[in-house]
Amino acid sequence: MQSLDDFAAEKLDDLERRHLRRTLADSYREDGIWVERGGRKLLSFSCNDYLNLSHHPEVKAAAAAALHLYGAGSGASRLVTGNHPLYAQLEAKLARIKETEAAVVFGSGYLANAGIIPVLIGREGLALVDELSHACIFAGAQLTRGKVMTFRHNDLAHAEELLMAHRKQHDRALIVTEGVFSMDGDLAPLDELNALAQQHDAWLMSDDAHGLGVIGGGRGSSFANGKHVALPLQMGTLSKAVGAYGGYLCASAHVIELMRNRARTLVYSTGLPPAIVAAASAALDIIEREPDYAALPVKKAKYFTRMTNLPDAQSPIVPIFIGGAEAAMKAAERLANEGFLAVPIRPPTVPEGTARLRLTFTAQHPDAEVERLARVVRERVLAH
Ligand SMILES: *Cc1c(COP(=O)(O)O)cnc(C)c1O
Repeated sequence: MQSLDDFAAEKLDDLERRHLRRTLADSYREDGIWVERGGRKLLSFSCNDYLNLSHHPEVKAAAAAALHLYGAGSGASRLVTGNHPLYAQLEAKLARIKETEAAVVFGSGYLANAGIIPVLIGREGLALVDELSHACIFAGAQLTRGKVMTFRHNDLAHAEELLMAHRKQHDRALIVTEGVFSMDGDLAPLDELNALAQQHDAWLMSDDAHGLGVIGGGRGSSFANGKHVALPLQMGTLSKAVGAYGGYLCASAHVIELMRNRARTLVYSTGLPPAIVAAASAALDIIEREPDYAALPVKKAKYFTRMTNLPDAQSPIVPIFIGGAEAAMKAAERLANEGFLAVPIRPPTVPEGTARLRLTFTAQHPDAEVERLARVVRERVLAH
């Protein structure tokens, strides 16, 4: 066993040297915006709970009621006995919000991408992925065992070039991008990408993990700027603005039925706890009912970028590029000393040399605190 331990220790030493070693910090929240961490109470600008719905009384009450009635776990895969009737309600709401025929809920967003992509693309296929896409999109693409190519971030001409050169050698092709980029906060040109996909007989899937609940009146990035782009495949997560847990795909009835039959992460993984399904369902009701509330995170982010002269925020996510991993950690520490939590994001989550503070704005951040954060960022981060 010596070699195993040595292997692990050497790997860790190497990460330490490059300032890339990570630690799990005990953190908990007793409301939507404050985090207890390392003995400090910090105002969080790092949570993806954009609407603070994880602590909404209606959401908690729905979860508690389902927990008491149906127990803590679901007991089996959805295809066996884990398919609680609450799922059908949740999926109907997702399909209604996204204007698709149907939806299917997975155990998480990661499981959704790892399951969906290999159902659509096989050994003879082509997966064309925006280079800044989330790790689980690449994980799903790799599981296809087909050809995986990346196109430069939001670069339609590069995507087209790759399709022209490679599409014909493959039986099927899937383009995957994020609706809102998780570490950069910018939006994908979904309309243009969808047209490009159609021209080249490819399918487009958007990962709307950071769009649902906060963009397009809460309906997500395919509804951004008052337009609706009818994408054939829209996946996302219930763990961010929805405040619960789980992943989903919205698509045509046939595609969804195929997923229920073939997506391995759905078939071979236990269904979500009923309380989580109930929480997500209650949260979607709030999102559908309160588009003005859903607009708040982007408003706060735009307020912040105006005060700091950063590029105008397009989503609740605002990156502040630092460069080196060590410098990013020091910048985060300076903010923590002022009472703000802004967890530094380092490689390999982001490309080498682009370590950053990734700020996320939520509906309930008080304007006065956003103003104070802007001042501290101007003086203690941007001026450094
Ligand atoms: C968070 C995230 C996921 C994973 O979703 P989970 O439900 O947390 O597993 C997938 N894609 C993107 C773009 C994400 O930001």
